[in-house]
Amino acid sequence: MLRLALLPRIICGIKMTDIVSAEKRSAMMAGIRGKNTKPEMTVRKALFAQGFRFRLHYKKLPGNPDIVLPKYQVAIFVHGCFWHMHSNCKLSRIPSSRPEFWLSKLKANASRDRQTTSQLLQLGWRVMVIWECHLKSTANLERLQTSLSNWIRGKSAYGVMSELPD
Ligand SMILES: [Zn+2]
Repeated sequence: MLRLALLPRIICGIKMTDIVSAEKRSAMMAGIRGKNTKPEMTVRKALFAQGFRFRLHYKKLPGNPDIVLPKYQVAIFVHGCFWHMHSNCKLSRIPSSRPEFWLSKLKANASRDRQTTSQLLQLGWRVMVIWECHLKSTANLERLQTSLSNWIRGKSAYGVMSELPD
């Protein structure tokens, strides 16, 4: 009798654990791969407010750009300063524990980014990289809509928005 009573609870327990871990897993993946992050949402909102149509995480192009505006042949990457190794940026310090591990991992990310950009440019796409640090400043946020929409409507093949001076 005791066994029979316990059985459903155990099964239920297993199910619950799976649900929680799946949620945690996807949250972790979102952080690591930088999908649907807060900075990305900020850029999406700015584009939306300007009436742009865009697609997300576009798998048909090299590097699966975060945001793509097909009408303008524009691919936008919203880069986390740490994960994409924004050089000279205060948000991009190498952790003091296992620095060589991080350095090789992050360098690989940065070199993949460079490759992706040149592939996209060769294919005739225009590339805009928006760094996370740029989106942390309120003053920049206020200008984001205008500067982004001017760039999209312009002719420039490559653009960067960053908190760092050029
Ligand atoms: Zn940065």
